[in-house]
Amino acid sequence: MIQFDQLQQQVLAVVQANPPKNLVLRDCVGAVLAEPILATVDLPPFDNSAMDGYAVRAADVTNLPVTLRVVGVSSAGHPADCTIGTAEAARILTGAVMVQGADTVVRVEDTQPAASPHSPDTQSLDTQSPDTQSPDTQSLDTHSPDTHSPEMQISEAPSEFVVITAAPAPGANIRRAGEAARTGDELVAAGTVLNPGHLGLAASAGCSELSVIQRPRVAVLSTGDELLPPGAGQLEPGQIFESNSTVLAALARSMGCEVTTHHCMDDAASLRTLLMELAGSHQLILSSGGVSMGGEYDSMRQAVAGFDVEFLKIAIRPAKPMAFGRIEESILFGLPGNPVSSVVAFELFVRPAIRQISGLAPALPPLIHGVAGEQLPRIAGEFTYMLSTRQDSQGSWVSTGGFGSHVLGGIAHAQALAVIPPGPEPVAKGSDLHLIPLWS
Ligand code: AMP
Ligand code: MG
Repeated sequence: MIQFDQLQQQVLAVVQANPPKNLVLRDCVGAVLAEPILATVDLPPFDNSAMDGYAVRAADVTNLPVTLRVVGVSSAGHPADCTIGTAEAARILTGAVMVQGADTVVRVEDTQPAASPHSPDTQSLDTQSPDTQSPDTQSLDTHSPDTHSPEMQISEAPSEFVVITAAPAPGANIRRAGEAARTGDELVAAGTVLNPGHLGLAASAGCSELSVIQRPRVAVLSTGDELLPPGAGQLEPGQIFESNSTVLAALARSMGCEVTTHHCMDDAASLRTLLMELAGSHQLILSSGGVSMGGEYDSMRQAVAGFDVEFLKIAIRPAKPMAFGRIEESILFGLPGNPVSSVVAFELFVRPAIRQISGLAPALPPLIHGVAGEQLPRIAGEFTYMLSTRQDSQGSWVSTGGFGSHVLGGIAHAQALAVIPPGPEPVAKGSDLHLIPLWS
């Protein structure tokens, strides 16, 4: 009999991180970055406006209100080809290149269009209500009924003049070239698990591919004459619907693995042939079934004869029996067939292995510390109980029920496995618990 934490160390001693590989951005989410992401351009690449408004010279907007001549437009992707001189402005939109000669952006809410340098519109600036607006502003306001500020209508010719009614500090509302990052700066460090935001950052910095740790290639193989894939028809006497491959493949995929699924009848020769075939193209084989102590019915035991595979008894319940070893270059986890046991064995032994192969540190997910929200069962003797639990509304941990290793409902609703060492008494309510997170 082996303790589960001893076996975890044995497993981690034989698996290594995969080498890196270049992948297009869209395939990188969840992968571990092998080389840092460096900016290939300044971010932002050029000085640009943080607002819709008017690019002005700060010196022209000290005495307000003031009317400026509008000499051009700079919109996103279309820089203005003018230079602003004294008493001039240019319309500018968010993200558009800053206009030459201008040093400040006045937001559009602090301006009014005007037909002439002395337009009558400008006289009623501070007292405008929707009813008294000039035709000019009324037509603009129909686009934003909730505010009195005119919106920028880039498709229309700009009005020839603009009245500035309030001005920000000189230099305001400009995003400076390189203020977020300079060309060559490290944006994301090697070892980072890439989330969608990291990928966006890489894209904004001009990177189309990233060097990431290759994802593990995993074969999920269910064994058993009694298994019928769901959807494949009605159950015959003695048959059950096959569920382990669904759970194990989903677990491996949720960790970013490339997964194939397979089924084999309880025939040692065909199982051996299939295992060798899978070993040629997969790093990990996760089989389920055929590893308990059933002797001649344990097809796995016969199928791997001659390979370096050990049949273990682990001092836990559920998931006592498991095979572990190599089929040629591939690592075999011969998980127990009972559905709950196969999940427990995955979380305890396969997840750390996949984390290590994927370059994730630490390989063993940190334990959760919690408190028992009720009295919890314990096994007398030598077996540590891996009890399916969830947090109650107080944040304490309670059993999800379903104590049989065939009852998926218990673990399906669980958030963690409470690690309950053997002992004669149940765990009292309020006791400290160590828990292994489930599913993630
Ligand atoms: P075994 O270790 O092959 O004797 O399987 C132990 C128990 O788990 C038996 O009740 C099997 O029917 C069940 N079992 C084995 N494999 C699966 C599977 N892929 N899906 C659902 N149940 C399974
Ligand atoms: Mg079986």
